[in-house]
Amino acid sequence: MKMINLVYNMKNSRPGTKNLKIAIQKEGRLSDQSLRLIRESGINHAQDTRRKLISTGENFPVEILYLRDDDIPQYVADKVADIGIVGENEVLEKGRKVEIVNRLGFARCRLSLAIPQSERYDGTGYFNGKRIATSYPRILQQYLEARDIKAEIHEISGSVEIAPGIGLADAIFDIVSTGSTLIHNRLKEVEGVAHSEAVVIASPVLDTAKKKILEDLLFRFQAVQRSMNNKYILLNAPNENLDEIVRLLPGIKSPTVMPIYEKGWSSLHSVVNENQFWDIIEKLKELGAQGILVIPIEKMII
Ligand code: ATP
Ligand code: MG
Repeated sequence: MKMINLVYNMKNSRPGTKNLKIAIQKEGRLSDQSLRLIRESGINHAQDTRRKLISTGENFPVEILYLRDDDIPQYVADKVADIGIVGENEVLEKGRKVEIVNRLGFARCRLSLAIPQSERYDGTGYFNGKRIATSYPRILQQYLEARDIKAEIHEISGSVEIAPGIGLADAIFDIVSTGSTLIHNRLKEVEGVAHSEAVVIASPVLDTAKKKILEDLLFRFQAVQRSMNNKYILLNAPNENLDEIVRLLPGIKSPTVMPIYEKGWSSLHSVVNENQFWDIIEKLKELGAQGILVIPIEKMII
């Protein structure tokens, strides 16, 4: 009943039926970063005091709906929301008609099968005749069927990792990131089944006006993401090694190289991807680079 009311209220929400409705997780691992992405995209929004589950963009035509992450694929498929920010794991599990339109790179995790540490594991045949506890029955079912494994799936909604310890199951299929929860529960990961990260999903049937808002929004999201993944780098380099250093730091188009007062040296400005950062720094030092400064980038439009 509560859900029906919510759907009704959201479908009839005013103002702004022309606003693009974005569903994000109300409270949980995705909430902070989803809100940060929206905020850093320059969208100010005030929470409506009468409708706590919705806030409206003040300088961009969006409405933000705060929901449980499990429900987001359904809300987008049912067009209650136009788009959503959600874990790919929930998109896969729910199997609703939605399109992944952007990958966001946060909330990275994997869905894995794990068994008690004391068990010997000799391949997926191990799971024949076993009871597996999970909150992702659909993904697990597909995985088992594809391998012709006959196991019993026990669907539970949370704290899956304790199921083997209390005798509810022989194994689990759940989200793993660092693996510390598994170790804590004396389990070991034996099969990685799928990778997941936060993604933007969209209804496949948006009208032209909303498609345009989505395009503008994704443009902003991508600029923010790029800036988060990249750093501005400045350094002094001996001229004889400039060509090699430029090869390491190709930048967006090409780095800026300027002479400095000291003869035989130049100042070089470029952009470096955070993932390659430490590798490149080592090589730069070997090539005689000095005074290396690394600065965060606020926005990056290319
Ligand atoms: P809700 O109350 O909204 O249903 P929840 O308890 O189902 O919340 P969270 O634990 O907040 O969900 O996780 C939300 C999403 O974050 C997951 O669906 C997954 O995509 C991702 N996630 C979960 N655990 C991890 C983790 N350990 N590391 C990285 N990402 C994770
Ligand atoms: Mg959930």
